[in-house]
Amino acid sequence: MERVVDCPICNDVDRCFEEIQEVYSSFMCFNCGFMSDTRFTEENDSQVEQNASILTNKLKTFDKERGIYWFPSVVNMGTLGIIYPEGTEEEWSWKFAKVTPIPEEKKSAMPNYENMLDTDSAKTYDKFDFLSACKDMGIAKDI
Ligand SMILES: [Zn+2]
Repeated sequence: MERVVDCPICNDVDRCFEEIQEVYSSFMCFNCGFMSDTRFTEENDSQVEQNASILTNKLKTFDKERGIYWFPSVVNMGTLGIIYPEGTEEEWSWKFAKVTPIPEEKKSAMPNYENMLDTDSAKTYDKFDFLSACKDMGIAKDI
């Protein structure tokens, strides 16, 4: 079951969804792109903390109401590409990189692959414009 909740990160009231599963719930806000899960508690955080240098961990925010951490999403849709946050803790934005065929001149460097992630020409979005990145990727919900 899915329901709309108030986003604790950006306070959006109609683009943040809770997906209620049998034993846990997951959360996804299409406005700010943050996500969480009822299992992302403080007790479980030591496992998540391993990669504290990664931007997603620097940007994690504690949701006092639910007692869980929220992280910016990294959406890897295989051949559709990847949406990921990039920048510094103070100044970051969303990026959408498409998957493109490897150009001839780079093929010798990547002999086992046909496609590559085109991060050089990744599109940039405002941190509260995650939805546009999803739309460009082709995975946006009708919201
Ligand atoms: Zn939000």
